[in-house]
Amino acid sequence: MKTIGHFINGTKRVDEGPTQPIYNPSTGEVSKQVVLGDSKTIDEAVIAAKAAFPSWSKTPPAKRARIMFKFKALLEQNADEICQLIGEEHGKIVHDAAGELQRGIENVEYACGAPELLKGEHSRNAGPDIDSWSEFHPLGVVAGITPFNFPAMVPLWMFPMAIVCGNTFILKPSERNPSAAMFIAQLLKEAGLPDGVLNVVNGGKEAVDALLYHPEVEAISFVGSTPIAEYIYTTATAQGKRCQALGGAKNHAIVMPDADLDNVVTSLLGAAFGSSGERCMALSVAVAIGDDIADKMIEALKPAIQELRLGVYSDKENDFGPVITEAHKSKILGHIRSAAEQGANVIIDGSNAAPEGYEKGFFVGPTLIDNVTKDMDSYSAEIFGPVLQIMRVETMEEAIQLINEHEYGNGTCIYTRDGEASRYFVDNIKVGMVGINIPLPVPIASQSFGGWKRSLFGDLFMYGPDGVRFFTRRKTVTQRWPSASLREKKQFSMPT
Ligand code: NAD
Repeated sequence: MKTIGHFINGTKRVDEGPTQPIYNPSTGEVSKQVVLGDSKTIDEAVIAAKAAFPSWSKTPPAKRARIMFKFKALLEQNADEICQLIGEEHGKIVHDAAGELQRGIENVEYACGAPELLKGEHSRNAGPDIDSWSEFHPLGVVAGITPFNFPAMVPLWMFPMAIVCGNTFILKPSERNPSAAMFIAQLLKEAGLPDGVLNVVNGGKEAVDALLYHPEVEAISFVGSTPIAEYIYTTATAQGKRCQALGGAKNHAIVMPDADLDNVVTSLLGAAFGSSGERCMALSVAVAIGDDIADKMIEALKPAIQELRLGVYSDKENDFGPVITEAHKSKILGHIRSAAEQGANVIIDGSNAAPEGYEKGFFVGPTLIDNVTKDMDSYSAEIFGPVLQIMRVETMEEAIQLINEHEYGNGTCIYTRDGEASRYFVDNIKVGMVGINIPLPVPIASQSFGGWKRSLFGDLFMYGPDGVRFFTRRKTVTQRWPSASLREKKQFSMPT
């Protein structure tokens, strides 16, 4: 059986020591093992990254960007293999994996603009014959810790930007599906990245803690569940590190009485059930304003949901695949049961939905639950499965209050034909990414991605302009070249 090791200083290696099984979620079988790195492994990666930093940080941004251009081409040439690895270990259908990879590649394209992104800010004549400018310096050795649900895209949110900014990087991918990240790291080496600039250490909590407490690691970028994000943020910042930690979500769509119902139904299907609902931007709650639109929406959703195809990643005809583990499947089924016990109406129950031939896979079918209320446990939790909950309220104000009171504030959407209502919604909603008739308002690479409330700990969003700020440190220089006529006189008051 294949064992996935680490990628340190440009070399792949498999160390002795503890391992963890990697499952093929479609079949339920163990397909590989992954080595679990420890503080010694992290030490070695930090030594390699630190040694690579002086030369890499002095490499002109244009030259760093040229490696990214080659990297982008290699990602495109190897897309099928990357999608195959994602499918085997995550279970998402190849067309969805291709979409994930493309969104990752767009971050590489943005990073190709390094000379423009890093050119700084300049003020001529800030004072008499004084010029002032800001430079953006790399931080040093920085690290990224990523979740299972986007094994290629989330690492690509982080390291291309960190690296073009002149940092050296240690990635700790999800131990459940590390192969895509390992493959991608090898491609970056092929593109010409010097050894030690990008390192991948596999593992779990022990490796993460070693990064959090390592004195030479300057910054941590994290994406995962909220309890872990909070732990990462509080621990990293207590160690004096810069940290951004993106957490979980519960994304609501408000469905106004005037919404285009056909658009609502088709777009909700993909947004709620795509990737088995294992997306931090999955739309898991539809809040209908009034019973009339709620009833019509449910009647239209029912036959459309029955037609969805659940199955193995390699069949392009399938709409979505299994969830990540047996334990996660049990958790999702527990939420469906608890919704029913607490008085919700489970209209379509996907608890027993394994496709033929894949009975041991971790499949959960599309599930539709009506009459969900805010006191229910399944409402407060991030279910992270193919479950769409319907809530009924009387007014848009009530819906906004519901969303604003929820622990999470990642994404949201309003379906309406009313411009005034949508503007009011944008102004008053406490959520980081907002869609108007767009169910998954994931920002493009030249914007930045992040949530509010307990969906993000830290000050800066991920990638885009915030990514440049996160991975650089500002230095502001003020200069004058005094000739005899400009020499300063004694001055004890603040110059104005
Ligand atoms: P997770 O929190 O279990 O794991 C994320 C990372 O943290 C992994 O690399 C894991 O090894 C590490 N980790 C796990 N437990 C740890 C511990 N006790 N101490 C230290 N490190 C630990 O998340 P997951 O299940 O892999 O991913 C799903 C979650 O990620 C969902 O909650 C989803 O909403 C969230 N997510 C958020 C975003 C976003 O942008 N906000 C994007 C993708 C996923």
